[in-house]
Amino acid sequence: MKKLACSDMGIEDCEFIAKGNNEEEVIQRMMMHHKTHHPDEMQDMSEEEMKESMKDKIENE
Ligand SMILES: [Zn+2]
Repeated sequence: MKKLACSDMGIEDCEFIAKGNNEEEVIQRMMMHHKTHHPDEMQDMSEEEMKESMKDKIENE
């Protein structure tokens, strides 16, 4: 399993953790979460930039 915490993306007061069987799943889930819950945080970043910064932070569980 792979996981990525929303707090690691710079949203310190959010406890959401995206989990998946591979990086792609985790990224998809975190993108959905950001679009729904933190749309303001994405204004300065393209979707590609978001994905790149997520990849660096994904951890094995
Ligand atoms: Zn969040």
